[in-house]
Amino acid sequence: MTEGTITVAYIAASVLFILALGGLSNQETARKGNVYGMTGMLIAVLATVLGAKVTGYGTVIVCMAIGGSIGFYLAKKVAMTEMPELVAILHSFVGLAAVLVGFANYMDETIQFEGAEHTIHNIEIYLGILIGAVTFTGSVIAFGKLKGIVTSKPVLLKGRNALNLGMLLLCIWLGVSFIGAESTSGGMLPLILMTLIAFAFGVHMVMAIGGADMPVVISMLNSYSGWAAAATGFMLSNDLLIVTGALVGSSGAILSYIMCRAMNRKFLAVISGGFGTSGGTVASSGDGEAQGEVVPISAEETGELLKNAHEVVIVPGYGMAVAQAQHVVSEITRKLREQKVNVRFAIHPVAGRMPGHMNVLLAEAKVPYDIVYEMEELNEDFPDVDVVLVIGANDIVNPDAQDNPSSPIAGMPVLEVWKAETVIVMKRSMATGYAGVQNPLFFKENTRMLFGDAKASVEAILGSV
Ligand code: NDP
Repeated sequence: MTEGTITVAYIAASVLFILALGGLSNQETARKGNVYGMTGMLIAVLATVLGAKVTGYGTVIVCMAIGGSIGFYLAKKVAMTEMPELVAILHSFVGLAAVLVGFANYMDETIQFEGAEHTIHNIEIYLGILIGAVTFTGSVIAFGKLKGIVTSKPVLLKGRNALNLGMLLLCIWLGVSFIGAESTSGGMLPLILMTLIAFAFGVHMVMAIGGADMPVVISMLNSYSGWAAAATGFMLSNDLLIVTGALVGSSGAILSYIMCRAMNRKFLAVISGGFGTSGGTVASSGDGEAQGEVVPISAEETGELLKNAHEVVIVPGYGMAVAQAQHVVSEITRKLREQKVNVRFAIHPVAGRMPGHMNVLLAEAKVPYDIVYEMEELNEDFPDVDVVLVIGANDIVNPDAQDNPSSPIAGMPVLEVWKAETVIVMKRSMATGYAGVQNPLFFKENTRMLFGDAKASVEAILGSV
C-alpha cells in the first residue's frame, strides 16, 4: 500500500471513529455507532498491516489470530454484568502495550534523532511508558475490585498523599536523568525505575478508591488508556493512533467529569481516595446492622398495588442486571400501560456497574425510550407517584446520602423514592450494595420489601398484573 493510500485510509478511519462516538451518545443510534467504530478499526488495522513499515507478516498474522480469537471468545462468553470487568482488563492491555512499545522503541537502534528531536522523542517515550504503566496496574486492580477478588473498600495507607507526591517527584527526577542520558544504556536504568514506580502508583491509587467512587475511576482509566495510546502514536509517528488516542482520552475525561458531577464529588478528591471512610478509617456505617423492622410484601400484593396505581416509577439497579429481569420488567410495563397506568423509568447515572448500564438493558428489552428518564428529570415528581418499584437497586436510593452528613455516601445525589406513596424494594436479603452501607429506606413506614431473586419476583408480579 502506498503512503498516500494509507493516509486516506487513516483519515477515513478517523472520521468513522468520530461518527462512532456521535452514534454512541444516543441509545437509538448506538448500534449504528458501533458499526462505524468496527468498520473504522478494520480499516485502521488493514492499512497499518499492509503499510511499508510492516514486514514480518508471519508473526503479525499469528499474533492477530491468537489475539482476535481470545477477544472473540471473551466477547461471546461475557455476561452483561461482567462487562465492566472486561472493559477494565482491556484498558490494562492498552497500558501494557504502551509500556512494551515504549521500551521496544527506546531500544530500536534504527531510530535515530538528533538535537531537539531526540529530546522530544525521549519525552514521548517517557510519558507513554509512565501513563501506560499507571493505566496497566490501575486497571488490573479495578478489574479485581469489580470482580470481587480485591476488596471494594478503600485501602488507605498512612501518609498516602505524601507517598503519592514522593512517587511523582521521583518520576520527575528520573525523567530529567533519562532525558539527559548520553546513551541508551545510560537511560535504561531511570526508565526501568520509573516504570516500577508507576506500576506501584497505579496499584496504590486505585486501592485507595472505594465503593461508590469506582465509576469515576473506570472512566478515568479509560481516559488514561487513550492518552497512553496517543503518546505511543507520537512515539511511532502514527497519526491515526494520535487521533484515536486523543478521542478516547478526551471522551474518557469528559465522562469522568460527568460521573464526578453525578456523584457530587471533586475529581481531585476522588483521585486522592478514601470514599467510604470517615476520619481516615473505613466507615462501618451499619455494614449490615439492622436499623428497625422491615415490612415484607408478596408479589401478588405488589401486582394489585401496581394495577390500582395511576403513576408508577421503576428504578432499576445492579440486581436487575444480575437477575436478567429486564425482559419481564418490560412485559409488566407493557401490560400496565395497556391498563392506562403511567409507567416511567428513573435512571441514576451510576446505577449498575458501568456508565449507561441500565439504558443498555432497557433498550435490549425494548422498553420505549420516551418513558426512560434521567434522575434530575424525575426526582421532583416522586411526591405524586403512587408506587415505586426498586428492582435490585440500593446505593442509588439511599436517603442517608442526604440526611446523614457522616454517612460515607453523604452528598451523593440519589433518587428520592421515599417521597412516593409506596416504595417496593426487590432484593434477596438485607445485604448492602456496592458502597457497603446500610440503607434506611428499607425501614421507612411506606417501604415494603419483596425478598427474592428479582427475576422470580417480577415473573410472579407479571402473573398477577
Ligand atoms: P448496588 O450495588 O447498590 O445494589 C444492588 C442490590 O441488588 C444489592 O443490594 C443486592 O442485594 C441486589 N441484588 C443483587 N443481585 C440480585 C438479584 N439476583 N435479585 C435481586 N436483587 C439483587 O447497586 P445500584 O445499582 O443501586 O448502585 C450502583 C453502585 O455501584 C453504586 O455504589 C455505584 O457507585 C457503584 N458502581 C457503579 C459503576 C457504574 O459505572 N455505574 C461502576 C462501579 C461501581 P441482595 O444481595 O440483598 O439481593
